[in-house]
Amino acid sequence: MIFASSNEHKTSEMRALLKELGAEIKSLRDVGFSGEIVENGTTFAENAMIKAETVAAAFPGKTVFADDSGIAVDALGGEPGIYSARYGGDKCEKDVDRTALLLKNMEGKNDRSAKFVCAIACVTADGERFVVEGECRGGLGFEPKGNDGFGYDPIFIPDGYDRTMGEISPAEKNKISHRARAISLFIDEMRRRA
Ligand code: IMP
Repeated sequence: MIFASSNEHKTSEMRALLKELGAEIKSLRDVGFSGEIVENGTTFAENAMIKAETVAAAFPGKTVFADDSGIAVDALGGEPGIYSARYGGDKCEKDVDRTALLLKNMEGKNDRSAKFVCAIACVTADGERFVVEGECRGGLGFEPKGNDGFGYDPIFIPDGYDRTMGEISPAEKNKISHRARAISLFIDEMRRRA
């Protein structure tokens, strides 16, 4: 199966989460895809399907799946949402810049609740399409903590935890994350279609 992503963090989480399927997961780098993917959807689900369909068009007969994900903050009306990877535009080059901007935009806000969302879209080898979605609710901390994970993990404290997603082990993250929840639905759907 081709995972339509060149994000190495996402790809390694996907490989761990999909171990039980026993399928080989190839990233865009592995298959040498360098085409353009225009993510102009208005929802996580739309953007995930755009990625899956764009790559599937280049690899007919292969199962292609894609993940579109991000963090949605209640006090900011759901921002950065689908713009999580591009939050702050050119002013924010790295994950640390984006987390710093998000913490700055949260100054003075009492409600720090937020959720991670992950939509996984799939175009199967015989051309069928489906999308599943998983969420992980939690709250924002006041400073980045922990070196595990990626993106907004160091400032996100999942409900029921007193540590950030960047402080818990990758194995623990893979039990509770938005991606883990979406992947569990994805596996169910793949088994149903097998
Ligand atoms: P995408 O590649 O357009 O789906 O961008 C997803 C962005 O959302 C990433 O670049 C991260 O900033 C953020 N994100 C998605 N999933 C996670 C996660 O598991 N932990 C932390 N940040 C995440």
